[in-house]
Amino acid sequence: MKITDIEAIILRLPDVNIHAADGSQDALIVRVHTDAGIIGLGEVDSSPYIVKAIIETPPSHSVARGLRELLIGQDPLEISALWQRMYNGSIYYGRRGVVIHAMSGIDMALWDILGKATGQPVYKLLGGARRNKIRAYASHLMPDSVDGVESLMKTDLDQGYTAVKLGWGTLGQNLPADVARIATARKALGTEPFLMIDGGNCWDAPTACELTRRVEPCDLYWLEEALSPDDFEGYTRLSRSTTIRLAEGEMNTVAEEFRDLIERAQIDILQPDLSRVGGFTEARRIATLAELHHRLVVPHAWSTGILVAASLHFNVTLAREPVQEFTLTGSPLTTDLILNRPIPRDGWFELPNAPGLGVELNMEVVEKYAYQP
Ligand code: MG
Repeated sequence: MKITDIEAIILRLPDVNIHAADGSQDALIVRVHTDAGIIGLGEVDSSPYIVKAIIETPPSHSVARGLRELLIGQDPLEISALWQRMYNGSIYYGRRGVVIHAMSGIDMALWDILGKATGQPVYKLLGGARRNKIRAYASHLMPDSVDGVESLMKTDLDQGYTAVKLGWGTLGQNLPADVARIATARKALGTEPFLMIDGGNCWDAPTACELTRRVEPCDLYWLEEALSPDDFEGYTRLSRSTTIRLAEGEMNTVAEEFRDLIERAQIDILQPDLSRVGGFTEARRIATLAELHHRLVVPHAWSTGILVAASLHFNVTLAREPVQEFTLTGSPLTTDLILNRPIPRDGWFELPNAPGLGVELNMEVVEKYAYQP
């Protein structure tokens, strides 16, 4: 089998609120075509316009090439070799950041092709499932008021969720207001459900130490992105001052960066995003690293049904039981883009069983939101 083309399709809602930390307002879909007629599907959660350029760019020289031209004519089933080919072929301008993001969508599509070619769901190709369902967590932007928090928690409980995350929004502007909203969430949920808070890098180390001290009775399952992803010293200080688990990783790519999060920042929970860290291929290295260091892996996933499905296939294979993120922003790119998107029932995802990723694009939705910069 040979790769004949790679498409990078930008989708964008007509009205984008650039002030909201909501990456589901646009999307970059990757389709890898083969001479066998199999099309692999992947996605990248990044800046779609830059990712498209990285995929489509013509070669400058031997180590500054475009991802599409690097892969055309290659066998799509040689996934590890193709990953290395993309990494080495872009090493002058790549190695980290947005180039690894772009590689992620292609890698995801290659695993989809492998699954479709062999008739197997991706999780079987990754080593098989260690569980047949996963607890979903409802993932929201933090409401501005305690009343907003209270009604949101009631809605989640009514829908059967047993885990909730609130993040970003106006967190970090006023410590008492942050503490009040977190305490309200715990009170509204009761003692059993998991509650996670995502700071979106809004605090510095002293403030985060004080916040964790004040919310210690709220029994947080984790505190995510409390500090800048580069503040290793601050994270070390924070981890020594609290028993709350610290989570980080959605802004990172490749296993080397996750090694730093473990060794230099004392991060407890690693959050690789499969559409950013280098796809399944690199996420497996991160999972192995996490196992060696006895860390929990909980992939970040705030995008379309393609990423939800990819994360499910990966999560069922993990050694330690994760929870899976499920965004409830209501963007049509998260709700309508995939015909058979995985949706949690009573707060749990079932194991996907169709070949490959097992998801199919709704081409009407693709055409409706297709965007030319
Ligand atoms: Mg986050």
